[in-house]
Amino acid sequence: MTMQDDAYLKCIDPQCGLEYPIKSTNVQCDKGHMLDVKYKNKPSDKLKEEFYKRRNSLGNIFNESGVWRFRELLNFCQIDTENLEECSKYLVSLDGAEGRQSKPYHMSKAAKFIGTSNENLWLQPEGYNPSGSFKDNGMATAVTHAKMIGAKRIVCASTGNTSASAGMFAANEGMDCDVYIPAGQIAPGKLGQAYQFGAQIIQVDGNFDDALKQSLEDVQNNNGYTVNSINPFRIEGQKTIPFRALEYLNWESPDWIVYPGGALGNTSSCGKALMELYEWGWIKKIPRIAVINSEGASTLSDLYNGKFEEEELRWNKGKPNIELITRYYNHLDKEGIRPKTKATAIQIGRPTNILKGLRALEFTNGIVTTVSDSEMLDGMSVVGLNGFDCEMASGATVVGIKKLINDEIIKKDDMVVGILTGRQKDAMLPVEYHNNPENKFAKPPKN
Ligand SMILES: [Zn+2]
Repeated sequence: MTMQDDAYLKCIDPQCGLEYPIKSTNVQCDKGHMLDVKYKNKPSDKLKEEFYKRRNSLGNIFNESGVWRFRELLNFCQIDTENLEECSKYLVSLDGAEGRQSKPYHMSKAAKFIGTSNENLWLQPEGYNPSGSFKDNGMATAVTHAKMIGAKRIVCASTGNTSASAGMFAANEGMDCDVYIPAGQIAPGKLGQAYQFGAQIIQVDGNFDDALKQSLEDVQNNNGYTVNSINPFRIEGQKTIPFRALEYLNWESPDWIVYPGGALGNTSSCGKALMELYEWGWIKKIPRIAVINSEGASTLSDLYNGKFEEEELRWNKGKPNIELITRYYNHLDKEGIRPKTKATAIQIGRPTNILKGLRALEFTNGIVTTVSDSEMLDGMSVVGLNGFDCEMASGATVVGIKKLINDEIIKKDDMVVGILTGRQKDAMLPVEYHNNPENKFAKPPKN
């Protein structure tokens, strides 16, 4: 079967709608809007059976991979997905390890803490990816596109997880990897991986938003390939996070899918996955997305919930009030407000994917709320008591669900899938948490 010209890039602004060939490296249209990867063909839902069969991989790494197992739903390479040789030539994989171990689990102690039944709560640890976070899902696809267009150097800005993932894939593919970081703002353990994989670290005065700006300028001026989530191919791979959750629930939609909110790549990719599945008739019900911001980095919550200028920012069918966002950012600059949370993975003031995120929230009737650092640490810690390891930002998912149940936004008998985005990479966080007997789940050391 030939898939030629099935995939292309299209501007997300419905009034603009500029299109580009799939081999374009533009991450924005000529008018500066974000892009989507689009597919003309509608995949048959008979593939559900095929995906299920592939869980017995029979030694095929593209079946073993939790990303490429769903390759027909992200076939931007436009290859014959049954042909193993063709898959090997195009698809980038860490020997099938990306997404392989991630699926939803029941965690009874987390359910008890949240105040819901064990049956209604699923938590999906994306930390069990090879580089320790959900980023490997989208990096597999972004680096596949980089390889497709012959890129020799990938570039990113990172607070830790992205650099680890990019460095790992670059090392595997024999590419160079440059990582822009905000100087002095990253947990040392999180940078260790990037160094280990041979990435070049470039320190930038400022915060993550400043580092991202410089990395994009570098790519523009010096012929690199950007792998931050502004890259639409990152979003394609991250769609497999909800794909795996839904597959384990037999494609019966839960009532809610809950994510921590940072750059909003996850929110965007979940929204795109659900839009596609719904359009193809693979799911009948649209789950609602809940995004949990940190109180110290609450751009989306402030704008979405009308806490700035009393206007609730919405996608508004493709006509969002962009000026409101600009005024909010100017306000942050003017007041010297910098994003501040110990959960560095979501310490982001200018979410790259805010518009795609708003689109996802509109499609799913989503909601946004905030939690404090101390709440996130409780959430992180109770996950640990179930024998699973997660980072502080993932704790936002757990306490966010708890808060939304307390507020009766999530109903007690709603089925909830929460995404735990990464593994613990700052060893001192749990040590400090447990050494303080005041903390809810603390088990201080004894003499
Ligand atoms: Zn456009």
